Amino acid sequence: TLPAEPSILPVAERTLVLVKPDGVRRGLSGEILRRVEAKGYTLRAVRLMDATPELLAAHYAEHEGKPFYQPLVDFMLSGPVLAVVAEGNNVIAGFRSLAGATDPTVAAPGTIRGDLGRDWGLKVVQNLVHGSDSTESAAREIGLWFPELV
Ligand code: UDP
Repeated sequence: TLPAEPSILPVAERTLVLVKPDGVRRGLSGEILRRVEAKGYTLRAVRLMDATPELLAAHYAEHEGKPFYQPLVDFMLSGPVLAVVAEGNNVIAGFRSLAGATDPTVAAPGTIRGDLGRDWGLKVVQNLVHGSDSTESAAREIGLWFPELV
């Protein structure tokens, strides 16, 4: 006999994706969302918005005190950000894989940062996207950027 089907499907994982101001400015929002959808993830929420110093202080709290912290915050305030909640099994690791390494110079071709990013010689690495790095970060970050979803 076959094992019984589970009566409750597992809840699909969610992650917070940000198209950073460089991605929006360069007109790459559509290309980045296209890659997320082409991979098979579902867009649950999408909002073009201006970040605030308070939101960024909470979002990047783990980096406070590092040399790139203030340049990073200033960069994230330099223009609108496209905030996205993407959903699917293992989407947290899966989007990190789509994004590629933090440094676009070494990010593998085929990834968002590897294909579309480069070193501009600035104090902060402009690498087009953010993706949550764990289930705890995803829950915390979705709560910050989409409080109405929680
Ligand atoms: N960053 C930077 N210099 C560094 C490390 C990080 O400019 O040496 C910036 C970069 O934009 C990066 C962000 O700070 O995406 C957050 O850093 P993290 O280590 O969390 O990298 P990520 O998870 O975004 O790859």
